[in-house]
Amino acid sequence: MEAGRQDNLFRAIEQMPKVELHVHLEGSIPSRTIERLAQRNSIDVAGLVINPETGRHRFGHLINFLDSYRLRCKCLREVEDFEEACVDVLENLHSQNVRYAEITIAPTMSRLYGISMETVMRGIDAGATRVAREKGIEARFIFDVGRQFGHEHAWQTVREALENQARGVIAVGLGGDELHYSPEIFVKQFEFARKEGLHVVAHAGEVVGSASVWGAVTSLGAERIGHGLGARADEQLLEYMRIHNIAVDMCPTSNVATGATRSYADHPLPDYLRRGLLITLNSDDPDMFGSSLTDEYKVSSEMLGLDWQEIKTLCLNGVRAGFLPDLYKKNLFDEFSEAFARIESETPPALNS
Ligand SMILES: [Zn+2]
Repeated sequence: MEAGRQDNLFRAIEQMPKVELHVHLEGSIPSRTIERLAQRNSIDVAGLVINPETGRHRFGHLINFLDSYRLRCKCLREVEDFEEACVDVLENLHSQNVRYAEITIAPTMSRLYGISMETVMRGIDAGATRVAREKGIEARFIFDVGRQFGHEHAWQTVREALENQARGVIAVGLGGDELHYSPEIFVKQFEFARKEGLHVVAHAGEVVGSASVWGAVTSLGAERIGHGLGARADEQLLEYMRIHNIAVDMCPTSNVATGATRSYADHPLPDYLRRGLLITLNSDDPDMFGSSLTDEYKVSSEMLGLDWQEIKTLCLNGVRAGFLPDLYKKNLFDEFSEAFARIESETPPALNS
């Protein structure tokens, strides 16, 4: 793309309102906040090596992703820690014009560190309420069931999700070690969650092939799949997801950073989108990957070759796939449409290719 047109597109991406559906609280907390909380709670974060060029935490060489993630979780201990973390994550999303976010929280990690869910959710709720009031960004929460922690922790997470619905918990999700634990192991817990009125999402097809995605969709009743890369060679599965409107929340930079895809060029997002699947764009663990949701949209243009129309589709798919009441969705659609029209009228028509 010629430079002037790309500048326009990037400016449009920065300005457009957005929805974020697949982002982990612990992996999004700005590094400066982690450092402040670590100091306050006397946690040694020397293992979180800072890359001197980017100022970001680095993993992969000296410390692996999960160790880094656990260390981040360990820094959160008191109600005010969770409140500050939630405020900083939401303010960061607000600065990117995110209007609505569904944020995944890992209750098992807090439980293992001896933190009660009352402490976690009092802080999160206070933070989310404050940012909603001051900035107008709304957040809901997804409780993540870590596969490797087994049945009892999964039951506990589902129960705690139900107990915290009034504080904005709307879904349970399946996460953790996809390689060694299939979705089918957790059928009972997710069936119970669905029956009690929670939505269901699942990380699947991130490091395992289509069997994992089939399991998440058919055994757990997942309404959205996180990543879904493993579905790419299974025409029947892709068609099943298209027909049943099962969203795929995709996170290209995360996939390249963790090696789930070889490169951006190898990423199936453009193919899925052009097949008519309900694809959303998300940032996963932005502070750990040195990225942001705005960056993901720029990547989707620059590295994945999407045009402005396709970028708008991804953006509106976030509204479509969100677990929101119909009236709220309609208001967001109206607001987004107005914003797109304004952006297009202020930017040279080359944008509208
Ligand atoms: Zn994720």
